[in-house]
Amino acid sequence: MLQNPKGTKDIFSTTWYQQQLIIDQFIQLCKQMNYQPIQTPIFEYSSLFQKVNNANTDTDTAKEMYIFNDSKYKYALRPENTASVVRAYLQNKLYANNENKFFYIGRMFRHDNPQRGRYREFTQLGVELFDEATAASDTEIIMLAHQLLQRLNISTELHINTIGCEKCRGNYITTLQEYLKDKELCNDCKKRLDNNPLRILDCKVCTFENVPSIYNYICDECKGHFNTVQKLLAAINVPYTINNHLVRGLDYYSNTVFEFVFQHPNLQLPITLIGGGRYNGLIKQFCDGIDQPAIGFAAGLERLLLALELTNQLPEIRAEDFIYIVSQNEKEHAFKLYNTLIANGINAQINFHYSSLTKQLRTAAKSNAKYVFIIEEDEVKNNYITIKELTTSKQQQISYLQLFSLLQK
Ligand code: AMP
Repeated sequence: MLQNPKGTKDIFSTTWYQQQLIIDQFIQLCKQMNYQPIQTPIFEYSSLFQKVNNANTDTDTAKEMYIFNDSKYKYALRPENTASVVRAYLQNKLYANNENKFFYIGRMFRHDNPQRGRYREFTQLGVELFDEATAASDTEIIMLAHQLLQRLNISTELHINTIGCEKCRGNYITTLQEYLKDKELCNDCKKRLDNNPLRILDCKVCTFENVPSIYNYICDECKGHFNTVQKLLAAINVPYTINNHLVRGLDYYSNTVFEFVFQHPNLQLPITLIGGGRYNGLIKQFCDGIDQPAIGFAAGLERLLLALELTNQLPEIRAEDFIYIVSQNEKEHAFKLYNTLIANGINAQINFHYSSLTKQLRTAAKSNAKYVFIIEEDEVKNNYITIKELTTSKQQQISYLQLFSLLQK
């Protein structure tokens, strides 16, 4: 039996339209806040993502990638889009035109273990903002994510945290390593203790009590930044919880990180619908002379849909009404009419077969057609169309002239 690969999904009509409605809301919101669309390739040179991951030798992220090569180069299916957006921003010197707010919609690929809400191919709706590292730009990004969830009527809990800056985080990491060194750690976290201790804080397996709080270690500037973000969120009535286990494992992240978390009795664990953070160090890492701070988020489309499904809020997609054209012996005339209807923006379909009219009418009755247009010899000879309304079975004859004046209306 033919089968789709593990962790991928075939998407059919209703779900496709439901996803599209979410995407439409996202696009509308981004346009409203003056974000510009950006579309980058689905695969990049694998070195792009490796560069990002190597900032810290966090093997978790590196092993997720699908890598392939031709005789010359090694490529990767993108596991996320931030690195590609940054690459495109730098390569095309978008900063020179003051273009600094971007949104994207696209498929991502990660070689994860699939489970509910976690796939190997999934869709992210994301934004990236390249601007000064102000608390106001952090707030804008969180506000955008919050607005999206409001529009979709999905209730979540917003978790925020600060992970300090590259200057002050070092003190905290040393303290954290000291604290963790004699704790019971899972195998992954044992490896992380040296190369990525912050990630241990958001491990789903290990639990700790009384972890030293980063707030006691970060510099006054980072504290001030985080306090202002909180004040601005309060000003726009966005409730939040400070979660000092929320981190980003890579070195180029700094200051604000956040997640919108969704809980439901039918879910074993809460799921993150949107995750984001400030990445002041990434652009510098890609392009030495450019010190451009940035912040962004990514929302998982499939998870937004899952949240709507679990809260019984999946939008209803109504099948469109159609005109169904049937003809046994006058296909040329029927096709001419069909082409005219389509050209005039009217929903129509035609029966492809040369079977009897009765059989074609039966097929039409099973479709979602509202009207059947019949064209046979008499219709052609006398220049009219027979129209049958399927719900009432009422039949009438109308001339082409009448039909076209109707169409014009
Ligand atoms: P991340 O890029 O890991 O910060 O993820 C951002 C968002 O993308 C998450 O909050 C999820 O909604 C979604 N996401 C990440 N990984 C997956 C996955 N494997 N399957 C489905 N959605 C995902």
